[in-house]
Amino acid sequence: MSQTTVLLKDAIVLDYLPVEMNADASPRVERCDLLLQEGRIAERGVGLTAPAGAGVRDLGGRVVMPGHVNGHHHLYSALAPGMPPPVNTPRSFQDVLTEIWWKLDRALDAESIYYSAVAGAWDSLRCGTTLVFDHHSSLTAVGDSLDHVERGLRDAGVRGALCYETTDRGGPGSRDMCLEENRRYLAKIRDNTSAGVPWFRGLVGAHAGFTLENQTLEHLSEICDEFGVGLHTHLCEGNTDRELCRERGWPDPVSRFDGFGLIRKGSLFAHGTDLTPLELRLIGERGSWLVHNGRSNMNNGVGRAPVDRFPDNACFGTDGLDGNMWGEMRTTFFRGNETGRGSLGFAGSLQFWIGGYRLAREIFGEPFGSLDVGAPADLVICNDAHKSPLSEDNWLSLMLFGFHPWDVREVWVDGAQRYVYGDAAPYDGVACRAAARRIWDRMAKI
Ligand SMILES: [Zn+2]
Repeated sequence: MSQTTVLLKDAIVLDYLPVEMNADASPRVERCDLLLQEGRIAERGVGLTAPAGAGVRDLGGRVVMPGHVNGHHHLYSALAPGMPPPVNTPRSFQDVLTEIWWKLDRALDAESIYYSAVAGAWDSLRCGTTLVFDHHSSLTAVGDSLDHVERGLRDAGVRGALCYETTDRGGPGSRDMCLEENRRYLAKIRDNTSAGVPWFRGLVGAHAGFTLENQTLEHLSEICDEFGVGLHTHLCEGNTDRELCRERGWPDPVSRFDGFGLIRKGSLFAHGTDLTPLELRLIGERGSWLVHNGRSNMNNGVGRAPVDRFPDNACFGTDGLDGNMWGEMRTTFFRGNETGRGSLGFAGSLQFWIGGYRLAREIFGEPFGSLDVGAPADLVICNDAHKSPLSEDNWLSLMLFGFHPWDVREVWVDGAQRYVYGDAAPYDGVACRAAARRIWDRMAKI
């Protein structure tokens, strides 16, 4: 769907950051009009007049907010819910990997990668999530896989920062294909000079330190240097990473990555449940990002991340579960309150929530998180069912307790309406379910 010029009248606009790229957070709530043009907010104010030919929508005081950002996702797992249980019951996090996810990523083919991406992106969009940092793996279908993911996101209308999870678990030939897929996609992004807010960006992807040989870390660092981007990887998801590093005689995971120059500005580390205070400080000093995936950590039993000690550059991710960022934030908030120990609290929730937009700004070079003039026109229009008034004083409380995916009425990305409540899916559901069945059947034979 192409961009349009449209005047959204009488909205209650919530946004988090000024349009200036390095400005501090200053959440505000204002009742005003927004003019969307060429994918951006072109005007903002009270009593705006629509230009000739523009569409006009009276929102009657509905809440409008920036589309949500997911800092760590695996769209390739979108067809996993409902699959038969593993033959051998997992007893550890490593078993979860070998019995479930490392079978799923070997079962995927080009078509099922696409259906996973488009269906997972559609799930995200319906929760108000408009930008996803995806971490992709499909070990027997590596080449061009990021193009299939990109096509799925594009068909759903969701922006993405993509990478391929490089690993040594398939041997050196397979490892080289993973590296090449990252390089190929990054070159494609670099050569794309189309105007406007970019839909896609690339990072250098890697699974986790414990499945990466030293030589591979060296290659990953070279690709980061070549394209001027950071690494996106799992780090200390439970104690497996540290234990396996020790078994191999390697330094601890953070020192090891740091030794290869991978803890750098623009790098994105998911989980960090097993990080020491010194390691957390180093990650902060290097300007890297930590992504907290609270629900996934609970599901995998990998422990509680020290979220109260995470560096300033921190945000939320869903780690393949779904696209519901409100749910992700509130689960971590609740979990901290349950024990009163290491709580995220309101201040941490605000830091992590706005962190997603700061991360998107850094990687995309665009003022996400603002709905002021010049900002990308990526926004959620809520229905009028939310029950209590929104203000600058209570917006975070409403994000934690008040708003849910069923409050999303419309989602706009790049200045065009991508979703209205009740819309049909942008893919063939019968074909998607057939693709899911096919990969489940393949998994049983791996
Ligand atoms: Zn993950």
